[in-house]
Amino acid sequence: LIAAINISKSFGSHQVLRSVSFEVAQGEALCILGPSGSGKSTLLRCLNMLERPDEGAVFLGGDLMGYRSHGRGIRELHDKTESMQRQRLGMVFQQFNLFPHMTVLENLVEGPVRVQKRGRVQARTEALALLDRVGLAEKANSFPSQLSGGQQQRVAIARALAMRPEALLFDEPTSALDPEMVNEVLQVIRELVRDGMTSIIVTHEVGFAREVCDRFLFMEDGVLVEDGPVSVLNQQAAHARTRDFLAKVL
Ligand code: ATP
Ligand code: MG
Repeated sequence: LIAAINISKSFGSHQVLRSVSFEVAQGEALCILGPSGSGKSTLLRCLNMLERPDEGAVFLGGDLMGYRSHGRGIRELHDKTESMQRQRLGMVFQQFNLFPHMTVLENLVEGPVRVQKRGRVQARTEALALLDRVGLAEKANSFPSQLSGGQQQRVAIARALAMRPEALLFDEPTSALDPEMVNEVLQVIRELVRDGMTSIIVTHEVGFAREVCDRFLFMEDGVLVEDGPVSVLNQQAAHARTRDFLAKVL
C-alpha cells in the first residue's frame, strides 16, 4: 500500500534521513523504533508530505505522493490538491492537537464537512459511531479540556478515522500520557490493527510493538539499520545496533 523509496532529507547541513526505503502492505502494522533524533518523526512527515523529501519518492496505492499525472508526465502538486492527497494518510500526534474551542463531536465533523465537503448529517452519524468505537460516545458534547489525556488521544484517533484514511501514522501516541492512560490508547490501536487498518507506529513501547505489529524498522542517525519481523525484537536475534538499543529500553 505504501512504498518509500530512497527518501533523503536535510535541514540545512544536517542530513536527517539517508536514503530510507521500505514498504508497508495493506493491513500490515509497522512500528518504527530508534533513539531520539534518529529521524523517526521526519520520516513519518515525509510519507504524507508534511515535509517534502529532498530526494526519493513515496507511493500510496500506486500514486506518487506530492504529484499527479498530467498528460503523459507528472506535475508537482500545490497546497490544495496536496492537502486532499495528504488526507489519505491519517496522522495522530504525541500532543493530540485537538481544536480546543470545539466539542469532541465538532472536532470529528469539522474535517469531513469543511475539507471533504461531505454532508453534515451523515458526518455526524459517522462521527458518533467512531466515538462509540473508541469508547467515548458519552463525551460527544464535552470540550477537549474536560477530558483526560488518554481520552483526548482516543478522540484524536477517532478524528483521524473520520477522514476515512487508507492508513494511519502514529507518532509516539502514548508518550505524553500518564502511565495509567497508556493502555486505553494502546487498546484502541490494537483493535484498529486487528480490524485491518494499515498502521505505521513510532513508539517506545517495545512490548506493544512486539504484540501488535507485524514488522519493525530500526532507525539510527537517519539510516534504516534494520527492517524485520517483530519476532526478532529480543536481545538474541536482532542486528547489533538494534540489540544495543533494546538493551536500554527493555
Ligand atoms: P524523537 O524520538 O526525539 O522524537 P525523532 O527520531 O523523531 O526523535 P526527528 O524529530 O525526526 O527525530 O529529528 C531528527 C533530527 O532532525 C533532529 O536532530 C532534529 O533536531 C532535526 N529536525 C527535525 N525537524 C527539523 C526542522 N524542522 N528543522 C531543523 N531540524 C529539524
Ligand atoms: Mg519524534
